[in-house]
Amino acid sequence: MLNCCRLIFSIFLVVSAAVKSQPQDAVLFTADEIAYLQQKQQLRYCVDPNWLPFEGLDEKQQHIGMSADYVSLLKHVLPIKTELVLTKDWTESVLFVQQHLCDFLPLAMRTPSREKFLLFTEPYLTIPSVIATTSDKPYIENLQSIAQMPVGIRRGFGYVELYQQQYPKLHIIPYDSYEEGLLHVQTGMLYGFLGNMGSISFILQQNKMTNIKISGRMPGDSLMSIASRIDEPLLSSILQKALLRIDKNEQQKINNQWLKVQFEHKVDYRLWWLLVSVVLALTILGSWFYLKTSALNRALRAANAELEQLSQHDPLTGLYNRQYFESKLQQALALCQRQQLPLTLAMMDLDHFKQVNDECGHLFGDQCLRHFAALCQQNFQRPQDMLVRYGGEEFILISVGTPSSDMKKLLEAFVGKVAAEGMEWSEQQRFCTISIGAYCQVPPPDFNAKQLLQLADEALYFAKNNGRDQLHLVGSPVVQSGDVPDVNT
Ligand code: GH3
Ligand code: MG
Ligand code: MG
Repeated sequence: MLNCCRLIFSIFLVVSAAVKSQPQDAVLFTADEIAYLQQKQQLRYCVDPNWLPFEGLDEKQQHIGMSADYVSLLKHVLPIKTELVLTKDWTESVLFVQQHLCDFLPLAMRTPSREKFLLFTEPYLTIPSVIATTSDKPYIENLQSIAQMPVGIRRGFGYVELYQQQYPKLHIIPYDSYEEGLLHVQTGMLYGFLGNMGSISFILQQNKMTNIKISGRMPGDSLMSIASRIDEPLLSSILQKALLRIDKNEQQKINNQWLKVQFEHKVDYRLWWLLVSVVLALTILGSWFYLKTSALNRALRAANAELEQLSQHDPLTGLYNRQYFESKLQQALALCQRQQLPLTLAMMDLDHFKQVNDECGHLFGDQCLRHFAALCQQNFQRPQDMLVRYGGEEFILISVGTPSSDMKKLLEAFVGKVAAEGMEWSEQQRFCTISIGAYCQVPPPDFNAKQLLQLADEALYFAKNNGRDQLHLVGSPVVQSGDVPDVNT
């Protein structure tokens, strides 16, 4: 990575190196040069039609690329018309200038063979040589490390001989275009492709070959000059002077425009997005499932609670029902027997309730039952009290731990409260009374629930027969005689 950054940095330095600008006064055409230009009338030039970003032709066969920009700057300096002569390729362009069908080549590298028929200005552009490989390949310090690997090179690339000399084992395969060679790098047919940094980067960007990178800087930078026909040396000196008059900033602009290589390490976000989508979908699904399950569980809990309430309670009064009472009575009795605690079982019956229904209506009767249940709850609300609608207008209080004397007072007071409480509903008012038959003792060990209920029932019967609106309290039976001891006295 460090090497890669160093490489990019150094490449920029080289590419950005501009021709040293000179004061305009220093550049003057001589009389001979001016006479030459006047006699020439126009300068014809040839380019490589397929070497972008350095030079090329657009669809209208117009000269484009870096050299086109340089030529247009030269036109401002040269007092003569310039005209492009079209050729089919670079070889033909070189041939044309050799045959004097062209006067100059705006971008050409000085080589010994070309010096035989061309004159060169000072180089005004330095293009680094690099090697491109697929992104998975390591940084290449020199070609030695990849000797014997197939490496592509653009046919006619100036330094092919140099590389072959330095690395005789290097397996170099010539290609007519960068595109074709880089495509073969992509498909794995070539290990890498050697060429100039500008062209390679341009092709990579044009073709969006994101999996190819520039993996190393190679020896042999291309120093580019303007080459002109050897038989007209005045032209070469004119071009040299014109080049020197190109503003340094203008040159930098051209370089920036065409060689601004963006080494974007494009990340393939598709997989990332796919992963995010899947995780998101699973999270949403999971949350939905959790919420749905929670809601269902809540509904289930509510339904169960309602069922439990219904199964244990009387719907009219909300007090416990007879079934639930019977299941709890046994436990309360056993507890009191074990702990020697007093147990109260008070059977409460509304007096002459049939008469209430008959005179005031069944709905009023219902209201009376609800009202009476509420009175019970107000008066017996300790945790150890349990209130039950035993049936019809008959209610039961079971209470654990209250001594007989206290309970007697409580129940008597309750009888009084009920009698004093007017039952009101729908503009009707009625005073009801209750009779209570109650057992309140520490139950003996051999005492059972049936006996307990029977005792309370008998006590109630006694209270009824004794004039109603009263409490009758009984104690534990004396086993030997079978009599029920009366604790009211
Ligand atoms: P006693 O003082 O001897 O208990 O007389 P009573 O009329 O209260 O007793 P009885 O057993 O003769 O009648 C009970 C009445 O209670 C009969 C019925 O009309 C009434 N009753 C029972 N259950 C309900 C009920 O759920 N709603 C209403 N409105 N009345 C009920
Ligand atoms: Mg009754
Ligand atoms: Mg009754």
